[in-house]
Amino acid sequence: MLQKIYDSLLTLAYPQICQTCSNSVENSADGVVCRKCWQKTKIFSGNETLCAKCSAFLQEKPANFQTFCHQCDEHFYDAVIAVGLYENALAASVLHLKREPFVAKTLKNLFISAFENSPFQDATVIIPVPLSKKRSLERGFNQAEILAEILAKEFNLKTDKQSLARKIHTPMHRAAMDRRARELTVENAFEVTRPKLIKDERVLLVDDVFTSGATTSFCAKALKKKGADKVYVLTIARAI
Ligand SMILES: [Zn+2]
Ligand SMILES: [Zn+2]
Repeated sequence: MLQKIYDSLLTLAYPQICQTCSNSVENSADGVVCRKCWQKTKIFSGNETLCAKCSAFLQEKPANFQTFCHQCDEHFYDAVIAVGLYENALAASVLHLKREPFVAKTLKNLFISAFENSPFQDATVIIPVPLSKKRSLERGFNQAEILAEILAKEFNLKTDKQSLARKIHTPMHRAAMDRRARELTVENAFEVTRPKLIKDERVLLVDDVFTSGATTSFCAKALKKKGADKVYVLTIARAI
């Protein structure tokens, strides 16, 4: 009830405009996107066919057997789970999270249940995908850390923000580069600074968005080189 009053006061005081369709957002739990746009967003339910390794969306209907996209065959992580597709509400929420270190309730709950329903329950440590020092200073926070903290708090898991570092700054706007060029820029970007804390751990890597998978794959490569047993990836949005 109080929440409802608060929401209507909030709409009166600061009508939050939906970042996707420009209608007003009536429920503050929905963050920067209205209910309709949330409903139009593909949230993975387990009834669609996703690549069994990288969660690439393959088809709307479930398959009777494990299916792989094969684009991820060479990638170093063990498996990826995403809340849903990078579109509508998830895309707008990911963009918002790069500007403000805040996750609204609807997204927070979806992220928590994505972990709960994942096969990653045996993870021993959460590691947010690191930003370079330069980007970290520009932004003032790491959005992957915000997401890692949600899981750490909810499931009482330890988080390690120090052992994996990004030593090379890669440019933000890489749209013009092709896939291989993009991969080369991140290939040697990550290093494990405290190998003892990584050895034999089952790492849950957390990031806001998963695009080509190059970034997380090279994080996983660095972690496995130092003896990580498994590297799982949990992300908000899976790009098509
Ligand atoms: Zn909308
Ligand atoms: Zn795949």
